Amino acid sequence: MGLQRYKEKRSFDATPEPAGKVEPRRRGALMFVIQKHDATRLHYDFRIELEGVLKSWAVPKGIPTQRGDRRLAMHVEDHPKDYGDFEGVIPEGNYGAGSVMVWDMGTWEPVGEDPLKALQDGKLKFTLLGKKLTGEWTLVRMREREKGKDEWLLVKSGENVRPISARADDQSALTGRTMKQIAGQKTRTWKSHRAASERTANNFRERIAQAVKQARAGKPAKDAAAMASRSRRRKAQMVS
Ligand code: MN
Repeated sequence: MGLQRYKEKRSFDATPEPAGKVEPRRRGALMFVIQKHDATRLHYDFRIELEGVLKSWAVPKGIPTQRGDRRLAMHVEDHPKDYGDFEGVIPEGNYGAGSVMVWDMGTWEPVGEDPLKALQDGKLKFTLLGKKLTGEWTLVRMREREKGKDEWLLVKSGENVRPISARADDQSALTGRTMKQIAGQKTRTWKSHRAASERTANNFRERIAQAVKQARAGKPAKDAAAMASRSRRRKAQMVS
């Protein structure tokens, strides 16, 4: 529960993803979002709002559209609600590095009384009202095949829905952008972070140049060498 695992996995000074917080529970419509994530392996992150966070599953093969079709859905850590409109690039070297598209978004409703208990019991039936997807699906927990892996199935229940066209599959529900456009456009947070790193690096270069000048003027060269190695270490940290 909560966002501890989410926070442990990320350095918020190096990724544009939101730090977020657990929001107070509220009445009214619950949000859902599906993010297409071009990480080590392309997958779709299926997230539904519950208990002030986004309960999340990674679905490698995307959302089934034909009744009875089922897709593996790996249960992953809760995400903050703020994550729901995150679209952009997670920089290299960070958890989940790669492009993220808001693939679909909207509201969801449980079919039945107590969705939290339904999740705990391992079977949640729900309807989505999204921009691309509208209809009924069911999440079903599988028996544990491998220790620590929380595998579920996302099953199309209810009526068939129209399969998603290749064009719609590559179009953001939030901005209309394609994955390629998102990948080519660094997010603002990342840019400003990089600018800050470059400023720091320039600052170090200046100080090294000064130290070298002083060394040539007869002062011990030790300082310049120490500073250069410190700068190299800093740079290595920035890259990792
Ligand atoms: Mn993901």
